Amino acid sequence: MKTYRKELYFNTKNRVEFINITRNVEKALEESNIKEGLCLVNAMHITASVFINDDEAGLHKDYYKWLEKLAPHEPVNNYNHNRTGEDNGDAHLKRQIMGREVVVAITGGKLDFGPWEQIFYGEFDGRRQKRVLIKIIGE
Ligand code: ZN
Repeated sequence: MKTYRKELYFNTKNRVEFINITRNVEKALEESNIKEGLCLVNAMHITASVFINDDEAGLHKDYYKWLEKLAPHEPVNNYNHNRTGEDNGDAHLKRQIMGREVVVAITGGKLDFGPWEQIFYGEFDGRRQKRVLIKIIGE
Protein backbone atom coordinates (compact mmCIF):
# COMPACT_ATOMS: atom_id res chain seq x y z
CA MET A 1 0.00 0.00 0.00
CA LYS A 2 1.18 3.50 -0.84
CA THR A 3 0.56 6.58 1.28
CA TYR A 4 0.85 10.26 0.48
CA ARG A 5 0.55 13.29 2.76
CA LYS A 6 0.32 16.96 1.89
CA GLU A 7 -0.67 20.15 3.68
CA LEU A 8 -2.40 23.14 2.09
CA TYR A 9 -2.13 26.63 3.61
CA PHE A 10 -4.76 29.32 3.70
CA ASN A 11 -4.78 32.90 4.94
CA THR A 12 -8.16 34.35 4.07
CA LYS A 13 -8.86 38.08 3.84
CA ASN A 14 -12.23 37.68 5.55
CA ARG A 15 -13.28 36.07 8.79
CA VAL A 16 -15.67 33.74 6.92
CA GLU A 17 -14.82 32.40 3.46
CA PHE A 18 -15.43 29.34 1.29
CA ILE A 19 -12.68 28.21 -1.07
CA ASN A 20 -13.00 25.52 -3.73
CA ILE A 21 -9.98 23.23 -3.16
CA THR A 22 -10.97 20.46 -5.60
CA ARG A 23 -8.10 21.29 -7.97
CA ASN A 24 -5.59 21.24 -5.06
CA VAL A 25 -6.79 17.78 -4.03
CA GLU A 26 -6.66 16.51 -7.63
CA LYS A 27 -3.09 17.80 -7.85
CA ALA A 28 -2.14 15.94 -4.65
CA LEU A 29 -3.75 12.79 -6.06
CA GLU A 30 -1.65 13.13 -9.25
CA GLU A 31 1.49 13.59 -7.13
CA SER A 32 0.65 10.49 -5.07
CA ASN A 33 0.44 8.28 -8.18
CA ILE A 34 -2.25 6.26 -6.36
CA LYS A 35 -4.94 4.85 -8.68
CA GLU A 36 -7.26 2.97 -6.29
CA GLY A 37 -7.86 3.94 -2.67
CA LEU A 38 -9.20 6.63 -0.38
CA CYS A 39 -8.46 10.33 -0.02
CA LEU A 40 -9.04 12.06 3.31
CA VAL A 41 -9.14 15.86 3.42
CA ASN A 42 -9.52 17.56 6.81
CA ALA A 43 -9.24 21.00 8.35
CA MET A 44 -6.43 21.07 10.92
CA HIS A 45 -8.16 23.76 12.99
CA ILE A 46 -11.26 23.70 15.18
CA THR A 47 -12.67 26.86 13.58
CA ALA A 48 -12.54 25.67 9.94
CA SER A 49 -14.25 22.96 7.89
CA VAL A 50 -13.79 20.81 4.83
CA PHE A 51 -17.04 19.86 3.11
CA ILE A 52 -18.42 18.70 -0.22
CA ASN A 53 -21.20 20.43 -2.08
CA ASP A 54 -22.01 22.40 -5.24
CA ASP A 55 -19.86 25.29 -6.46
CA GLU A 56 -22.86 27.60 -6.82
CA ALA A 57 -22.67 31.22 -5.64
CA GLY A 58 -26.30 31.36 -4.44
CA LEU A 59 -25.81 28.29 -2.28
CA HIS A 60 -22.69 29.81 -0.73
CA LYS A 61 -24.61 33.00 0.15
CA ASP A 62 -27.27 30.77 1.71
CA TYR A 63 -24.59 29.09 3.83
CA TYR A 64 -23.32 32.48 5.09
CA LYS A 65 -26.86 33.57 5.95
CA TRP A 66 -27.85 30.27 7.56
CA LEU A 67 -24.66 29.94 9.63
CA GLU A 68 -24.84 33.57 10.78
CA LYS A 69 -28.44 32.98 11.88
CA LEU A 70 -27.49 29.80 13.77
CA ALA A 71 -24.37 31.29 15.38
CA PRO A 72 -24.11 35.08 14.93
CA HIS A 73 -20.60 36.46 15.40
CA GLU A 74 -21.96 39.45 17.35
CA PRO A 75 -22.48 40.05 20.19
CA VAL A 76 -19.27 38.21 21.02
CA ASN A 77 -20.08 38.28 24.76
CA ASN A 78 -23.02 35.96 24.02
CA TYR A 79 -20.63 32.99 23.97
CA ASN A 80 -19.26 31.34 27.10
CA HIS A 81 -16.21 30.32 25.08
CA ASN A 82 -15.32 33.98 24.55
CA ARG A 83 -14.84 34.44 28.31
CA THR A 84 -11.40 32.92 27.64
CA GLY A 85 -10.56 36.20 25.89
CA GLU A 86 -11.23 34.85 22.40
CA ASP A 87 -13.90 36.16 20.02
CA ASN A 88 -14.43 33.02 17.94
CA GLY A 89 -17.16 31.18 19.85
CA ASP A 90 -19.36 31.36 16.74
CA ALA A 91 -16.58 29.93 14.54
CA HIS A 92 -16.33 26.75 16.65
CA LEU A 93 -20.10 26.19 16.26
CA LYS A 94 -20.04 26.92 12.51
CA ARG A 95 -17.19 24.45 12.07
CA GLN A 96 -19.14 21.78 13.96
CA ILE A 97 -22.14 21.92 11.66
CA MET A 98 -20.12 22.16 8.42
CA GLY A 99 -17.89 19.23 9.43
CA ARG A 100 -14.24 18.51 9.95
CA GLU A 101 -13.36 16.31 6.96
CA VAL A 102 -14.38 14.48 3.82
CA VAL A 103 -13.32 11.12 2.40
CA VAL A 104 -13.47 10.60 -1.36
CA ALA A 105 -13.00 7.26 -3.14
CA ILE A 106 -10.24 7.09 -5.73
CA THR A 107 -11.08 5.07 -8.82
CA GLY A 108 -8.88 4.87 -11.91
CA GLY A 109 -6.64 7.64 -10.56
CA LYS A 110 -9.54 10.12 -10.23
CA LEU A 111 -11.66 11.43 -7.36
CA ASP A 112 -14.85 9.39 -7.68
CA PHE A 113 -17.41 12.21 -7.22
CA GLY A 114 -21.17 12.22 -7.55
CA PRO A 115 -22.78 14.84 -9.81
CA TRP A 116 -21.71 18.44 -9.06
CA GLU A 117 -19.63 17.45 -6.05
CA GLN A 118 -16.72 19.79 -5.27
CA ILE A 119 -14.50 20.02 -2.18
CA PHE A 120 -14.47 23.25 -0.16
CA TYR A 121 -12.42 24.72 2.63
CA GLY A 122 -14.76 26.61 4.96
CA GLU A 123 -13.09 29.30 7.05
CA PHE A 124 -14.93 30.75 10.06
CA ASP A 125 -12.14 32.57 11.89
CA GLY A 126 -9.70 33.60 9.17
CA ARG A 127 -7.13 36.34 8.60
CA ARG A 128 -4.31 34.12 9.88
CA GLN A 129 -2.48 31.13 8.42
CA LYS A 130 -4.35 27.84 8.70
CA ARG A 131 -3.84 24.35 7.30
CA VAL A 132 -5.68 21.53 5.57
CA LEU A 133 -4.35 17.96 5.58
CA ILE A 134 -4.63 15.64 2.57
CA LYS A 135 -3.90 11.98 3.24
CA ILE A 136 -4.17 9.45 0.43
CA ILE A 137 -3.85 5.69 0.85
CA GLY A 138 -4.12 2.93 -1.73
CA GLU A 139 -2.34 1.25 -4.60
ZN1 ZN B 1 -11.78 29.57 20.27
